Amino acid sequence: MIQTEFTGEDNEFVYAGHRLRIGDHGTFVLCNLHCRELGRHCHIDYCQSESEENCKLGNQGQHINEKVQLNPDRSKDFISHKLFWERTEQQEFSKCDYECSDKMHNKFQGSSTPKSFCELQLFHAHLNPSSNLLNNIGYISLDGHHFNCENPSTHKAVYYIIFVLNHSGSMDNRDKKPIPNFPIYNKLIKNYNNRIGTVYQAVYQFMDARINSAQANQNQILSATRRDSISSILFDHEVFNFARGGTSYELAIQKAGFLITNYFDPKKENIIIFLSDGSCGIPLNQHHIICKQNETKGFPLYLYMVLFGRNSHSHSLEEMAKIAQSYHPTNTSSGALRCQFTRTMNEVNLVSHFTNVAESLRNHKPALLKKIK
Ligand SMILES: [Zn+2]
Ligand SMILES: [Zn+2]
Ligand SMILES: [Zn+2]
Ligand SMILES: [Zn+2]
Repeated sequence: MIQTEFTGEDNEFVYAGHRLRIGDHGTFVLCNLHCRELGRHCHIDYCQSESEENCKLGNQGQHINEKVQLNPDRSKDFISHKLFWERTEQQEFSKCDYECSDKMHNKFQGSSTPKSFCELQLFHAHLNPSSNLLNNIGYISLDGHHFNCENPSTHKAVYYIIFVLNHSGSMDNRDKKPIPNFPIYNKLIKNYNNRIGTVYQAVYQFMDARINSAQANQNQILSATRRDSISSILFDHEVFNFARGGTSYELAIQKAGFLITNYFDPKKENIIIFLSDGSCGIPLNQHHIICKQNETKGFPLYLYMVLFGRNSHSHSLEEMAKIAQSYHPTNTSSGALRCQFTRTMNEVNLVSHFTNVAESLRNHKPALLKKIK
């Protein structure tokens, strides 16, 4: 006796932990093996002839005359397991194997957006990215594939930004002070009329530039998950400890890595803006571990190292930026962000550098990275 797997009365039901839907070719996750576990059974699929007279399924199927749920007006057939899988595989495996490179599909740490494959036939001719889509669904990638998902180049990049700021004794030095006539100047000079006060001013300007760029995109209503998140870490020889001492880059970068792991969001790029006035050894091991972890997730870190103060150079800050950049793909588009080391000589340099970084984040199109294939 034939066991009928889909009754046609329920749109959706669960078998062996899998949620199944009627006639939804290729989109449900019933694996052939699970299906076999049922023993003899049949499936329901849309009729490919649309009428009983033309429906010639032989001994592999039977036209259904009643209306069956999920688009009841489209006629359906009972079909054999064999025919069902022939159709599914034919559809699925004759198609192009290129995937949409949007990080929204990255499965790491629970992105809910499934992978999206090119809708065209395998070895199709590459489409012109500016040509019109027949069905107006999805987009054509720069390399000529058609995906049914949202065009990633229209996404506005969103970030998790971590400021890692040296707060050691030397940051009290008054050789650098907040710039007068800038916002929050009067508040800052009460307690921070020194190097760290200037840094706070630069951070303030940075935030202001990010807020302005969000407002400039008012036509895109951003949900809470599509907004930047910000953290700041103050360090000297310890993190979050105001005792004046030396400078530990190791603890600082370790803390930043910890925050990124704990608050990981596949919709956000991770940016670290690391500022110091002094030199300190490079925490090589720790730094490589953090860069590697994030590269593996498909989200290499963007590290902005900033030297501020009297020192004219910092080998360690420069080297940390180079190491972080080495974990990025080499074939990125010219507009992509890059890890960098910058020496800021004075207050004006520092504030304008932070504003420039904010500006570069605004122009960044995360998903325009070229995919290696
Ligand atoms: Zn039929
Ligand atoms: Zn089956
Ligand atoms: Zn394709
Ligand atoms: Zn996509």
